[in-house]
Amino acid sequence: MKNRQARTRRVRTRRVRTRRIFREDADLSEFTAIVLEARESGEDCGVILDASAFYAESGGQPPDRGILGDADVVDVQEDDGVIVHTIRGKAPTAGDEVVGRVDMETRRDHSCQHTAQHAISAVAREKWGAKTVGFHLGRETSTVDLENFDADAVKELEDGVNRIVREDRPVTVEITQEKENVKFRTGRVLGPDEEVRFVEIHGLVRSACGGTHLKSTAQAGLVKLLKTDKVRNSTRVEFVAGLRSLKKFQQLQDACGLMSTLTSAGVEDVPAWIKAAQKQLKELKKENEKLAHAALLNKIPVLVEKAEEVAGLKLVCTKLEDLDMRFLREGAKEIRKNAGTVALLGSVHNGRGSLVFAASDDVDVDMAHVLKKVLESIGAKGGGNSTMAQSGGLDPLAVEEALSRARDIVTTGTGD
Ligand SMILES: [Zn+2]
Repeated sequence: MKNRQARTRRVRTRRVRTRRIFREDADLSEFTAIVLEARESGEDCGVILDASAFYAESGGQPPDRGILGDADVVDVQEDDGVIVHTIRGKAPTAGDEVVGRVDMETRRDHSCQHTAQHAISAVAREKWGAKTVGFHLGRETSTVDLENFDADAVKELEDGVNRIVREDRPVTVEITQEKENVKFRTGRVLGPDEEVRFVEIHGLVRSACGGTHLKSTAQAGLVKLLKTDKVRNSTRVEFVAGLRSLKKFQQLQDACGLMSTLTSAGVEDVPAWIKAAQKQLKELKKENEKLAHAALLNKIPVLVEKAEEVAGLKLVCTKLEDLDMRFLREGAKEIRKNAGTVALLGSVHNGRGSLVFAASDDVDVDMAHVLKKVLESIGAKGGGNSTMAQSGGLDPLAVEEALSRARDIVTTGTGD
């Protein structure tokens, strides 16, 4: 293992670092370069060039996409200063001169989200002393993790960031080897030949960063902070910028339009409409319950009158329609008020089955025991005592079979 690591290191040190064109000019979309290495692996090929305008994934920013020669660039990674382009399509060979074309729409979008992140981090630091501890640029939205930032201040942060956008501040890049400068700003001591790239939003922030950025803050258009989440000790701020903000606005407008149509209320009145509808629904549910209760109480005498006379008992064994456990228990209680009765009731409500077994005090059949035997056969659990036992959350299809099994046990005494 050690030997292999040493060998890998030797191979790496022999490789020439790729000249990163995007570091100097983030607007250059087309470039020519020499292929230093092309290694095929399955349907893909790893290509190393002497120079590249493709941005390799790093610092929370995804890699560029585009075309290299006649092939699609599907991934770009950096390994110890060497940029490896993963391409799919016709592979070049070492020594070839190839033309690379970066997909600038994706690049500009990434630069926009990234620049917005710098502005968010800088305003949060300036106003609240918040420290940025994480950044992720996603396909739809991006996030910045801020330490010592109170989520209640998010609107104020949004206002501050968009003020910076409107001020159209230049964003510039400086690549330096000045050791003192780097040490002062980053606390890091530079190695020989090492250089650091600083990105500055004029008058606001200067930070060491290798990513791609806009030329001015105004190009970010609108930075919209969408929501905050507590993540460990920091506040995660989710945001969109530029065209993504427009897209988000359009989506929300469509959703609001649909709500307005469905409720026949103006967009601003939709929340009040929903509140009123919720209140009405609650009242209707209450009313419905009252009616169901009354219907149940009316049904009980009929059920008792029609009870089957078997084994010296009056047996009510039935599946009632759409009753929850509370009502089922209430029905069983009413039935067991009649001497010599056993009630075996089942029902399905909201896709869940319930069973309630009850016996009047003068009946010598243990309901908890009957229930236990029945549930054993369908692999469920329940509880209760000798006069009343119940089980809920059952497979709806098992209710009828469970009632039939309970009836057998009660009438034939086969439960033992
Ligand atoms: Zn940056």
